[in-house]
Amino acid sequence: MKAFVLATGNAGKLAEMKALLDDLSIDIVPQSDFNVPDAEETGLCFVENALIKARNASRITGLPALADDSGLEVDALDGAPGIYSARYAGADASDDDNNRALLKALEDCAAEERTARFHCVLVMLRHWKDPVPRIFSAAWEGHILDAPRGDNGFGYDPLFRPLGLEITSAELPPAEKNRISHRGRALASLRASLTAQES
Ligand code: IMP
Repeated sequence: MKAFVLATGNAGKLAEMKALLDDLSIDIVPQSDFNVPDAEETGLCFVENALIKARNASRITGLPALADDSGLEVDALDGAPGIYSARYAGADASDDDNNRALLKALEDCAAEERTARFHCVLVMLRHWKDPVPRIFSAAWEGHILDAPRGDNGFGYDPLFRPLGLEITSAELPPAEKNRISHRGRALASLRASLTAQES
């Protein structure tokens, strides 16, 4: 069975990826199993940061690698928090800290101007010097509310109302979120590519 190292220490992401790629003949091993230190995310876009993470994990383990980078783009904030989504309120910010900072930044912004989208970029490298990385991405359009709602999910989910829904992504059942979200759909593209390679 072909093994891929997953360049994340995030248990939630590992579980989501394993669930979606479960029936394929690949084994996804977190980089923590190899004591791979986190790479510094010095890129200026999601693709660069996902590549940095995948290359770091592949170089240290000698295995093909998968990495993802994701975040929230808010139009009224010129795209912020963007690639800095996890650390919007500071280096050690919690999800609550980040959500409070987002509400503060948007306090003078009318409801119809609070358009936003989540992005997810997945990168697959066959080896650390792979000159042709496979890149899969998806975006999820929505609006930022003025107060949090819901207990599911993580990050900005309690403030994000997906386009066409009356509830936040933190009020969606997890399986439904995974079906329609930026990460779920980027993973579906990755899965389709892996399936095509297998046949
Ligand atoms: P990273 O991809 O681990 O760097 O995480 C980026 C950050 O974007 C997360 O810490 C969250 O704040 C935010 N984010 C990415 N995807 C989601 C999502 O599905 N729901 C809520 N927040 C998300």
